[in-house]
Amino acid sequence: MRLSKDFFYTIKENISDEDSVSGKLLVKSGMIKKISNGIYAKMPLGEKALKNVESIIRKNMDEAGANELSMPTLLPMDIFEKSGRKETFGPSMFKLNDRYSREYALGPTHEELFVLAAMNKVKSYRDLPFTIYQIGTKYRDEMRPRLGLIRIREFTMKDSYSFDKDYEGLDISYKKMFDAYHKIFKELGIDYTVVKADTGAMGGLLSEEFHAVTDIGEDTLVLCENCDYSSNLEVSKNVVNKEENIEDEKELQLVETPNAHTIEEVSKFLNLDVKKTVKAMLMNIDDELVILFIRGDRELNENKVLKLLGANEINFANDELIAKSNAVPGFTGPIDLKSAKIVVDNEVLNMKNFCCGGNKEGYHYINANVKDFKYDISGDIVNVKEGDVCPNCGGKLIFKKGIEIGNTFKLGTKYSESLGLNYLGDDNKNHPVVMGSYGIGVERILSAIVEQNNDDKGIIWPINVAPYKVAIVVINPKEEKQIEEGNNLYETLNKLGIDTLIDDREERAGVKFNDMDLIGIPIRITVGKKINENMVEVKLRNQNEAKDLNAGDVVEFIKDIISKNK
Ligand SMILES: [Zn+2]
Repeated sequence: MRLSKDFFYTIKENISDEDSVSGKLLVKSGMIKKISNGIYAKMPLGEKALKNVESIIRKNMDEAGANELSMPTLLPMDIFEKSGRKETFGPSMFKLNDRYSREYALGPTHEELFVLAAMNKVKSYRDLPFTIYQIGTKYRDEMRPRLGLIRIREFTMKDSYSFDKDYEGLDISYKKMFDAYHKIFKELGIDYTVVKADTGAMGGLLSEEFHAVTDIGEDTLVLCENCDYSSNLEVSKNVVNKEENIEDEKELQLVETPNAHTIEEVSKFLNLDVKKTVKAMLMNIDDELVILFIRGDRELNENKVLKLLGANEINFANDELIAKSNAVPGFTGPIDLKSAKIVVDNEVLNMKNFCCGGNKEGYHYINANVKDFKYDISGDIVNVKEGDVCPNCGGKLIFKKGIEIGNTFKLGTKYSESLGLNYLGDDNKNHPVVMGSYGIGVERILSAIVEQNNDDKGIIWPINVAPYKVAIVVINPKEEKQIEEGNNLYETLNKLGIDTLIDDREERAGVKFNDMDLIGIPIRITVGKKINENMVEVKLRNQNEAKDLNAGDVVEFIKDIISKNK
C-alpha cells in the first residue's frame, strides 16, 4: 500500500458513538466504518487484518482434516420449521418474504443446512466420520448491538460440524477441533481461557467456550487461584461449605422487625451477619408462582432455576400472582407458606439458626432451621461469588471478564433425529448420526486482539494479524535519496512476501508517525536525512526505543523478527 495514492485515511476527531476501546480505535484508524447500529463496513486495512485471521483459522481447520464448503445465507424458513428452531430463535432471526410471499430467514446459524448436506453422503457406517466447515456471514437481530465488533447484527463466523457413528467417534472428532482451536488462538496471539458453559438453546451434552480475557467482556469467567478450574458464571457450581454452620439448633422465635423489608435492613436491625439470613425470591415461572429461598448475600441464577425445574421462562411475580399465596412481600419466609411452589437452595439446607420472613407484615423468624418447614424441590440455584470454594481443589475462586471468541459443542443426535440423518450400521439397523458443532467469531477476534493490545497512541497488532507487517516512513519524499531507498525497501520486502506499506505522503513527520502508531503496524522503518550516511531508523510498535541500522541490514533484521513469530 502506497499511502500517497491508495485508499487510506485515519480520523482526527474523537469517536463519540463507540462504547469500547476497540470500537473507537478500529473506527479512528480507518479499519472499519459504522454503517448503522450493529452493522459495519470493513475498510482496506480492516479487511486485510480480518483476512489474516481467517487464513490462520482456515489453515488449522484444513490441517485438522476438515473440508471447507460454502452455504447460502438466504434460507427457506421451512428448514427451521422442521427443526423446531423458528420458535427458539424468535425475534433474533431476521425474517423476510419473497415475491410469492414465501418466508425466508437470513441464516443465524447453519446446523440444519450442514445436516441436509451430509444426507447426500451418509448411507452406511462406512461413510463416517467426517468434518465440514465454512467461513461465512451470519445474521442475528441483537436487541442491543454494542462494544464495536463484539455484539453486531451481521458477522463472519467459522462454523464446523462433525459427523460420527457413535459417541466414541464424537469424542475423537471433538478433540481434533478442540486442539485446532488452541493452535488458532495461540497463533493469533490472544490471551484466552477455556470455560465450561451452558448447553442452552443449542441443546447437547458438553459445551466449552474459548474466551479472550479482557476488561470489557460480556461474560463473567470463574477461575480458581490454585488449579485450572474454569467455568462461565452462568453454570458455575456452588459448593456448599459443610464446615460452616456447625452448631446446635435453637428454638424458633418470631420477632418484630418494623420497617425492615430488605435483607440488609433486617440483618442490620437484628444485628445479624447477612450469611445467617435467608431471602425469598417471588417469581413467575411458566405462569406459576414459585418462591425460591437462598442465602441473604446470594444472587439467584435464573439459568440454574430453569434447568432445575425444566421450565422455559422466569420473571418476577406480580401482585396478582403473589396474592394467590399467603406470602407478604418483604416478609416472606418458608415456614407455614401456602399455595406456592417452594424451592430451596442447597446452601440453605446446610444452614442453622437463620433468620427468614414471618409471612406477617413487620415480622421475621430467628433461629429457623430446615426441620421447621416443608419444601417441594431443592438444588443449586445461586451464583458463586469471588472467594467461594473451588469445586475441584477447595481453593478460592476469582472472577475475570471474557469475550467469547469460540465454542465447541457435543451436540449428539438432536439435529440428526429431528431432520432424519441416519446411517445403516453393521448390525443392519438404522442409527442417527452423532454430531458436534464448533464456532469461531471472526470480527470478535479482531476486537479482542485490539482490547488486549493497545496504548494511548493506538493499536499494537501482533505480527500474524497486522494488516501490514512493516511501515516505511519517508520523511521527505522530495529528497531523491530518501524516496529512492524507501521505494527500494518497499519493493524488496513485498517481493519477499512481507506485507509492507510506504508512507510517502507530503505530510509532517509527526503526522506520519502518529498515523503509523494509530494503525498499529508492528515494524516501522524511517528513511530520513541519515540515509546520506546509509543509515535508517527501526522502531518496533511494542517497544519505546528506536535504533539506527545500516540500510543494507534492514531486510535481514525484518526477516528475523517475522520468522520468530511464525
Ligand atoms: Zn481449584
